[in-house]
Amino acid sequence: MHTKRLRFHHLLCLPLFKGEGYSDDFSVNMQSVKELLESEGPTLRFVCSSDMICQSCPNRRKSGCALDDREGSVSDKDKRLADISGFEEDTELGYFDALKAVRRKMTAEDFTSLCGECRWNKMGLCSYEKWLENADALLNR
Ligand code: SF4
Repeated sequence: MHTKRLRFHHLLCLPLFKGEGYSDDFSVNMQSVKELLESEGPTLRFVCSSDMICQSCPNRRKSGCALDDREGSVSDKDKRLADISGFEEDTELGYFDALKAVRRKMTAEDFTSLCGECRWNKMGLCSYEKWLENADALLNR
C-alpha cells in the first residue's frame, strides 16, 4: 500500500490543532488526519514538501505553498525540524516514534525559531509548553 506522506513541521501543528484552520475543508481534513494518526500511529513517509494535510489547503500551489514568501520557506522549516530531530527526508517511521524524537530533541528556542512567525502562534493558539503537554499526553497513554 502507498505510504502516506507527512511533512516534518506538521509534527508541530498536529498535537496543537484545535479546529482552527485556513478553510472549512482544511479543518475537516486536518481533524480527520489527526484522529487517524493519533488512534493508529501508522507508518508515514516524512517529507519536506506537500502532504496529506496540504492536499485540502487553500494555500497549496503547484510550486509549493503560498505562505513561502511571508513566513520564510515552509520547506526550510521542514528541513530544520528534520535536522533537529536527526531524520533524513523520505524516512519511513511510525507517527509516535517520530513524535518521540521531536519531543526528545526540540528545545524551546527551536520551537520559537520554527513557529515564531506563524499566524496561529501569533494568535496565541500555540506554545512550546502546550506542544510538550499534548505530545506527552499522546506518548504516555
Ligand atoms: S499548503 Fe502550506 S499552509 Fe497549507 S498545510 Fe501545506 S504547508 Fe501548511
